[in-house]
Amino acid sequence: AAAAGLPGSDAAALPGWTHVYSGKVRDLYVPEGQTGLADATAVLVVASDRVSAFDFVLEPGIPAKGALLTQLSLWWFDQLDDFANHLLEPGDGITVPASVRDRAMLVKPLDMFPIECVVRGYLVGSGWVEYQASGTVCDVPLPAGLTSGDRLPEPIYTPAFKAELGDHDENISYERTVELVGEDVASRLRDLSLDVYARAAAIAEEHGLILADTKFEFGADRTTGEITLADEVLTSDSSRYWDATVYATADGGNRTESFDKQIVRDWLSAHWDKTGTPPELPADVVERTAGRYRELIERLTD
Ligand code: ATP
Ligand code: MG
Repeated sequence: AAAAGLPGSDAAALPGWTHVYSGKVRDLYVPEGQTGLADATAVLVVASDRVSAFDFVLEPGIPAKGALLTQLSLWWFDQLDDFANHLLEPGDGITVPASVRDRAMLVKPLDMFPIECVVRGYLVGSGWVEYQASGTVCDVPLPAGLTSGDRLPEPIYTPAFKAELGDHDENISYERTVELVGEDVASRLRDLSLDVYARAAAIAEEHGLILADTKFEFGADRTTGEITLADEVLTSDSSRYWDATVYATADGGNRTESFDKQIVRDWLSAHWDKTGTPPELPADVVERTAGRYRELIERLTD
């Protein structure tokens, strides 16, 4: 396990599995006896209750978050089952330990592309900040006169370079993704991202939700090379969801009442200058965030 204080230092020992990596939120395991992700036959992705904002892991975690986000991801993979994804069925002696069953996903190890495939349908967050300064979002020019929370004329693909643990992801141009992975893969990542977003946004809408933006990660199948949807999908960690009725009827900033960790981001922005160690989240912020996560999954999957 990682050193105390680092993400994953709380990763449980799991029978039959070896802990090999922890990101900010999830702990990765390979079958016992295998040495690492590079040669693994399967990967167990265990979502913790850790919460991150602005790429910092915060204290304390959000109770049941790991289970809620895992169930949401699995539900979305099922909805999107005509897109190749990384889920594996248990078998060949590989099983999911009971102690983490509700927050673990068994997946196929892929050669991951170092690109966060972000799709934005609305002007918000860092996109809104950039737009005010330059009229663009990630260098994509947009019409004048838009305001925070506005729907974009059409969804835009705004990739980011996946930073190493501890660094911050960096927005990059589409041309830069071509340099990183080649023209063919770059264009397929963009097209797939826009396709999955469009499908998911339509499904969310049926449930009275707006999918404002989201981030996907893809990898190549190690045998066939097929570009495969990986990581978590369309969770409240990787996406912004808003209530469609509130959006249509409230005005200004109030219309973007969200089901994600915006509560955490807002509290942190108001109480911290993003240098040094982030302050501990107060209990009411933790409880309200947990409540929003629960409400999202109920509304989507009911
Ligand atoms: P980082 O990758 O920089 O650690 P993170 O903090 O977002 O980012 P987590 O989301 O906590 O990391 O951990 C999940 C990790 O598992 C990510 O690095 C992701 O790229 C990786 N991953 C997801 N699906 C697969 C897969 N099928 N094969 C290999 N790696 C995967
Ligand atoms: Mg991640």
